[in-house]
Amino acid sequence: MKPHPREEMTFVLVKPDGVRRGLVGEVIRRIEQTGLKIIALEMYTPSREEIDKHYPKDEAWITRLGHKTLSTYEKYGLDPMEEMGKNKAEEIGPDVRGWLVDYMSSGPVVKMVVAGVHAVDMVRKLAGNTQPALAEMGTIRGDYSVDSAASANTDKRAIHNLIHASETAEEAKHEIDHWGMKKKLHSYKRVEEDLMI
Ligand code: GDP
Ligand code: MG
Repeated sequence: MKPHPREEMTFVLVKPDGVRRGLVGEVIRRIEQTGLKIIALEMYTPSREEIDKHYPKDEAWITRLGHKTLSTYEKYGLDPMEEMGKNKAEEIGPDVRGWLVDYMSSGPVVKMVVAGVHAVDMVRKLAGNTQPALAEMGTIRGDYSVDSAASANTDKRAIHNLIHASETAEEAKHEIDHWGMKKKLHSYKRVEEDLMI
């Protein structure tokens, strides 16, 4: 039997900038406010290796990061050769992935597993666009940051965007497992389960 839709799970991290800006409570508040349920929660200082394994390693994902970076350079009239000494997506992608590993292992994060109806899409909606400068007001990234790819690429660092949230159910499954959260899940009932969903 298929699990009930309210059992869908996603993995969320308050990134090091979110922790250092004191936004852990605010992120949790916004998630819980929608009726989504926190079923695992832990502060943790990840190693570079753990971050490296968290983000996909396949060529398609890494090249996608390179393409995103190239399109930002193009949009703002910057020459990738001048900025990075290279102009191929498959060569730029690994550099951006490296910036991401530096950023994500720069301090403690807060790991969470969130359950509820459309948990994956709901938390992505709460998070907002990857670039805080493009994220709608009312989203976590839109309300609490103004960072952008243009600014981050210029500084040769990852975009500081406060939280990570799984993009698909498969990504969530991999991440919950990778971060050792499978054995830390708790079971309880939110009152909304009788009233709202
Ligand atoms: P997310 O799922 O919204 O977090 O975005 P992605 O999975 O596409 O990218 C992972 C992370 O890489 C983002 O959260 C950013 O921190 C960083 N990032 C993504 N795109 C860029 C980019 O074009 N430039 C830089 N510097 N960092 C990026
Ligand atoms: Mg992602």
